Amino acid sequence: MCKHVLNAQVSIRAPCCKKWFDCPECHAETQDHNLAKTIEMAFMCKKCKKAFRKDMTTYEDSDEYCPHCDNHYVIDAKTPQAVVGVEGGDARVDNRMLKDERVKQTKIRTIWNDDELDEKLDF
Ligand SMILES: [Zn+2]
Ligand SMILES: [Zn+2]
Ligand SMILES: [Zn+2]
Repeated sequence: MCKHVLNAQVSIRAPCCKKWFDCPECHAETQDHNLAKTIEMAFMCKKCKKAFRKDMTTYEDSDEYCPHCDNHYVIDAKTPQAVVGVEGGDARVDNRMLKDERVKQTKIRTIWNDDELDEKLDF
């Protein structure tokens, strides 16, 4: 569940940073690079919690179902009406919820941000 697609049925695994996201927007908000395109996309069904792969070049209607539990995961996305003023806070919560794999990357950026902040404070 993320704030972009309220009824998301699957997580997607970003081929670029090997992390799980609820939707491409979540990747865009928390990462500083573009989501890499891949012909074989990895998904994880939110219903049965099992991962599966799909070849995106041969994607058909019948592929819209989880191969493990038949959950129909390609559905019209329900998106929130208004997301205003909570961007920063949400990003931090997301960061904490994601696993340690990304801690290194986040640290580098956090240190950088702190330095910037110190400069501003000195001024
Ligand atoms: Zn990425
Ligand atoms: Zn999202
Ligand atoms: Zn499933």
